[in-house]
Amino acid sequence: MAKNNQSVQAIRGMHDILPEQSPRWQYAESIIREVMSSYCYQEIRLPMVERTELFKRSIGEVTDIVEKEMYTFDDRNSDSLTLRPEGTAGCLRACLEHGLLHNQVHRLWYYGPMFRYERPQKGRYRQFYQLGVETYGMPGPDIDAELILLTDRMWKKFAIRDKLRLEINTLGSTEERLLYREKLLTYFKQHLALLDADSLSRLETNPLRILDSKNKEMQSLIKDAPELMDSLGEDSRQHFQTLTDTLDQLGISYEINTRLVRGLDYYAKTVFEWVTNDLGAQGTVCAGGRYDGLVEQLGGKANHAVGFAMGMERLLLLLEQLDSIAVQNTVDVYMIRIGVAAEKEGLRLAEKIRNEVNGIKLQVNCAAGSFKSQFKKADKSGAAYAIVLAEDEMARAEVSIKPLRSNDEQINVSIETAIQFLKESI
Ligand code: ATP
Ligand code: MG
Repeated sequence: MAKNNQSVQAIRGMHDILPEQSPRWQYAESIIREVMSSYCYQEIRLPMVERTELFKRSIGEVTDIVEKEMYTFDDRNSDSLTLRPEGTAGCLRACLEHGLLHNQVHRLWYYGPMFRYERPQKGRYRQFYQLGVETYGMPGPDIDAELILLTDRMWKKFAIRDKLRLEINTLGSTEERLLYREKLLTYFKQHLALLDADSLSRLETNPLRILDSKNKEMQSLIKDAPELMDSLGEDSRQHFQTLTDTLDQLGISYEINTRLVRGLDYYAKTVFEWVTNDLGAQGTVCAGGRYDGLVEQLGGKANHAVGFAMGMERLLLLLEQLDSIAVQNTVDVYMIRIGVAAEKEGLRLAEKIRNEVNGIKLQVNCAAGSFKSQFKKADKSGAAYAIVLAEDEMARAEVSIKPLRSNDEQINVSIETAIQFLKESI
């Protein structure tokens, strides 16, 4: 137990985003909004807590997330609740609950924190932010391609397109996967001695997940396993073929990775990941796919759904490495106030300036202090100009404007002239 006089620390794996970091986040968020609106995707805002059952029924009982990563607790009513580990299930729950899926097409996005009890390391946290995109009601591979185009456009806007490669695969329909499951089971049973403990426990419950194993010693066994492509029916084969043809036509390069199965049970047909080599083991920045079956699984009428989720921290790590964000000044003008009269008049004047100079970022010195110390703060703020309001200025109903980033002379002018000057200079 921490002693009472010790400060309380944040929870392991849950990070504060400090003021000096937030311009990067805001920049990334503004690009996301811009891209989403250019494809006419609508924002949906969802609760961060859902009934535990929702995740068990959607993500699947035998997945990393449900088996060991969820923050689950009983509320005061003894209902089992879970901090959302991902957004797909909650988004679909909301759309079903509000009847949004009856003969309608939707393109939605959401943004916010997700929670998973994982071992914290670079690019892997217990609270992390995701951009999630979900589309409903569209059966063809054109919407799969649109999601890939949209992500491709985001990478270009962030100037990280050459850092990411696209991997795609198809998981076929539920029936085809069952058929494949049998083939895999037979294969792995012939090599029981080569399976690690994790894989042995997956054998009966979810043998496809063995293909996702990161254990190096299992790789050659996995390499020789039967491929799902060979169990595909005509419909799935055609869907995948059209998708790859479309990507070819659009000039979007990709690799077909037949071992890409994704960690969640609900995917079928298209799956894809955008991967980088620059973030060590946490290389997947964005991942998604088609999950037509989930709508029925959660109690809706059979429908179509495709989506993806992007990890914001991994995106930000990439952007930081490239130093590709020009962080803007947060202060344009810093107001120095000397004396009681100036302190009073200053706040009023600052309001007038904010009213009249569109978009100006004006910081007023609020902790008093000598001219010298206020001036130091003005300089440190990064402001282009200091506005000085002291007894002299007050007596003449003027202000002084002092350029902080050039050798230009200080000017002493009327308030109207100062406003005109700032309008032209900021
Ligand atoms: P991984 O294989 O890295 O564990 P995942 O398959 O569990 O990823 P998804 O559930 O598909 O990941 O989530 C989509 C994206 O969210 C990931 O590609 C990643 O960028 C991000 N992400 C997932 N888990 C974390 C985490 N614990 N910390 C930070 N970002 C995460
Ligand atoms: Mg994971």
